[in-house]
Amino acid sequence: MLEVVRIKEYVESLIKDYLSVYQNREGIETKWGDPCMAYADAEDKLFEKLKDIISSSHALPKDFLPDSRTVITYFIPFEKSIIKSNIKGKESSREWAAAYIETNKLIHDLNQYIKNELNKMDYDSTVIPATHNFDDEKLISDWSHKHVAYIAGLGNFGIHTMLITENGCAGRIGSIVTNLKLSPTKRPDKEYCLNKVDGSCHECVNRCLNGALQESSYNRDLCYDMCLFNDQFHSDLDLTDVCGKCTVDVPCSYDNPVS
Ligand code: SF4
Ligand code: SF4
Repeated sequence: MLEVVRIKEYVESLIKDYLSVYQNREGIETKWGDPCMAYADAEDKLFEKLKDIISSSHALPKDFLPDSRTVITYFIPFEKSIIKSNIKGKESSREWAAAYIETNKLIHDLNQYIKNELNKMDYDSTVIPATHNFDDEKLISDWSHKHVAYIAGLGNFGIHTMLITENGCAGRIGSIVTNLKLSPTKRPDKEYCLNKVDGSCHECVNRCLNGALQESSYNRDLCYDMCLFNDQFHSDLDLTDVCGKCTVDVPCSYDNPVS
């Protein structure tokens, strides 16, 4: 049995090593940057609050695993060339759309890998899909990875409603519930969004092409219209209901602009 302190390092190495091997697999187009990780206590009171903030059907860690102890969360940024490819035009770039599909698959496979590895040490875990576990009418997830990642201390929200991490906001978030006890990460005690700090930035609002994002509001339906437009535009690909224009070519694309 590994010491508790070293288990966290071990989990982090599982994620990093898996990612570096995965992106060299035959048939994988996407490249990714360095992931970052954070850990929530499965009993954190904020999980209950997600039922009020997001939806009464938002799950608790114990709904996945009755003896859950920790929620492992991680952010996997897209490689810079993919982020840059999505700057121009109304439509999301093909690279961005393909990265969305491949990263969702990566997250599923990575979670399965972590589950298997932890199982070798007699710990249970639950694999949660990266997306499309949401209510079609309310457009709200039953498990919001970005809110769960916030609880874990992975970052803080920008006015574009995305989580800004130390490695930016242009990528995907994954999470896995386990009964392995890991010490929780301290949540940031400061804002990561320049607009929230001193009102000096509106770049994400300026980049939104259909008015879904305003400085003090976000229209979920308008945003999803744009995502569905992109899905139609890339109709030869699997479901690509993404846009991401507000996360590219902005100060928080690659890192925390406030640190
Ligand atoms: S682009 Fe600027 S205002 Fe928008 S979330 Fe990022 S830091 Fe905040
Ligand atoms: S994802 Fe696209 S449509 Fe939605 S808020 Fe961002 S820029 Fe606007």
